[in-house]
Amino acid sequence: MQVQRVVLNSRPGKNGEPSPKNFRLERISLTPDLENGQVLVRTLYLSVDPYMRCRMNEDTGADYLTPWELSECVDGGGVGVVEASRCSALTDGDVVTSFNWPWQTHAVMIGDGLQKVDLQMVDGHLSYFLGAVGITGLTALLGVREKGHVTKGANQTMVVSGAAGACGSLAGQIGRLDGCIRVVGICGSDEKCKALVEDLGFSAAVNYRSEDISARLQDICPDGVDVYFDNVGGAVSEAVIEQMNKGGHVILCGQISQYNKDVPYPPPLSDKTQEILQSRSIMRERFMVLSYMSKAEAALFELSQLVKSAQIKVLETVVNGIENVGVAFCSMMRGGNIGKQIVKISD
Ligand code: NDP
Repeated sequence: MQVQRVVLNSRPGKNGEPSPKNFRLERISLTPDLENGQVLVRTLYLSVDPYMRCRMNEDTGADYLTPWELSECVDGGGVGVVEASRCSALTDGDVVTSFNWPWQTHAVMIGDGLQKVDLQMVDGHLSYFLGAVGITGLTALLGVREKGHVTKGANQTMVVSGAAGACGSLAGQIGRLDGCIRVVGICGSDEKCKALVEDLGFSAAVNYRSEDISARLQDICPDGVDVYFDNVGGAVSEAVIEQMNKGGHVILCGQISQYNKDVPYPPPLSDKTQEILQSRSIMRERFMVLSYMSKAEAALFELSQLVKSAQIKVLETVVNGIENVGVAFCSMMRGGNIGKQIVKISD
C-alpha cells in the first residue's frame, strides 16, 4: 500500500527558527503483512508540540528526548484507528494513542506500545486525547496541583504566560476552579486576549507584544501575584516575577521564548530576578509531567469529567493534511494557534 510520511529534511541549527522546509513529504510503500504482535494503524490526528524543537537539534539537551534523525520519519503524539491486528490486546476499529506516533498516514506499529483509549472520555472528540484529556491536560492539572500551592479561600492571584496556548488555556481555568480569585493570562494577540476573557473566564488578559506587562499587572493585580504558571520564560517571566508576593510559587512548566536559542534548560535568570526570588522566598520549581505518570489515570478521569461537564472549555486550532504537519509545527512555535494545535490526517 502507498502511504505518505514526513521526514526531517534539515536542522534549523543552533539559534535557528524552525521552517517548514526542515520537513519533507515522501511517498513510500508499506507492506501491510503483519508479524506477531504488530498492528496496522491509520492515523487520525497528530500533535505538534514545543519540545519537538529540541528534537530537531543534533543534541536535544535533555536525556529524556532523542534527536530526530535526518531523512528518518518524524514522530510525536498521535491518535489512530487499528485496521488490522496480530496483537491479542487489540482488534480492528480500536482507537489507540502513542507518544511515538510516526508522521505517516498509515503505519505498522507494535501493539504493546500503543494505549487503547475509551471514546466516552472525550465524547467523540478524539483529538482531545492529544490535548485536554491527554498530556497537555495532565501538564496543566498536575502542574497547578503539584507546584502551584493553590488554596481555596486564600484570595490568591494567578498569572499564566502562554495563556492562550494548549497548556496555558487549561492551567488558567484549573487555577480558577481550584480557588484563585483572580486569573490573568499573558499572550501574543488581542484576539487571544479576548478569547481568554470572554470564552474561558480569565479575569483579564495582557498582550505582551503591544502592552507594558509591568504596568498592566500592577493595575489588574492590585494585591500582587501569588502563583505564576510559566510557559514562556524570558522578559515576560521576569516582568511577572517582579510583581510576585512573598512566599509565592512559580510553576516552571516551559520556556518557549528560549527554545530557538542555544541556552541550557532552564535558561539563566537575571541577577535582579534571582534576588527577587530569594528575598521574597518565592519557590520556583521545575515541573516535568513525565515525573508524575503514576497520577495520570486519576487526573485524566478528572479532566474528562471537567471537559464533559463544560467546567473546562477546550480550544483547538486544527490544520488538515499530512503535508501540513511541519507548517503547523512552525506556526505553533510562532503563536499561530489558539488552544491546542492539532493536525487532522484522516476521518
Ligand atoms: P502552546 O499551545 O502554548 O503553543 C506555544 C505558544 O507559545 C504559542 O502559541 C505562542 O503564543 C507562545 N510563544 C511562542 N514564542 C513565544 C515567545 N517568544 N514569547 C512568549 N510566548 C511565545 O504550546 P503547549 O501548550 O504545548 O506548551 C506550552 C509550554 O509548556 C511550552 O513551554 C512547553 O515546552 C511546555 N510543556 C511542558 C511540559 C512539562 O512537562 N513541563 C509538558 C508539555 C508542555 P503567543 O501568541 O502567546 O506568543
